[in-house]
This record gives sequence, structure tokens and C-alpha cells, in this order.
Amino acid sequence: MKIPSVTCGTHGEQPETFVCVHIIAALKKGEPSGFWWSRSEEGVWDAICNDCNNLSQQEFDALGADNIGIVCLGCFEDAATLNEIQLD
Ligand SMILES: [Zn+2]
Ligand SMILES: [Zn+2]
Repeated sequence: MKIPSVTCGTHGEQPETFVCVHIIAALKKGEPSGFWWSRSEEGVWDAICNDCNNLSQQEFDALGADNIGIVCLGCFEDAATLNEIQLD
């Protein structure tokens, strides 16, 4: 399966990744908010912040799709770097 791509103003055409809106806000501000990442079997990256990670699965699911945004893989890596997280 090919990962859908997004066109980013900074990084150009990149695979899309999914992060919570707090990580997007943190990236804009340049302030780390935690970065808990995982990668699906298809190779799609996703990550959530400390606050979201502290929620129960039920609480997190209740936030719904509005809590999640799409960023390019370059931005995803930038967010990881901001939080001093090394991606495999
Ligand atoms: Zn969050
Ligand atoms: Zn980007």
C-alpha cells in the first residue's frame, strides 16, 4: 500500500502523518509538548502529545477526529526533533 502524500509549504510533497492538534500547535510555537509516536503496519506514522497520552483510550476517542491533524513527514520529524525524540 502506498502512503498518501501531502504537499507541505516547507518540505514539498511528503508522506502524510497523523498527529494531535497540540503537537501542531507546539511545532508552531517551537515549544515541546511531548511526542509519543507509533507506526502502523502500512508504515504510516502517528504521534500524540503528553496530555493526550495521559488520557484513557475512552477519553481520547471522545475527542474525535477534530483532535487529529495531518502533517507531512518532514514536519513530523521536526516535531520529534523539537521534543528530542529519535525516530527509528
Ligand atoms: Zn495532544
Ligand atoms: Zn512539512
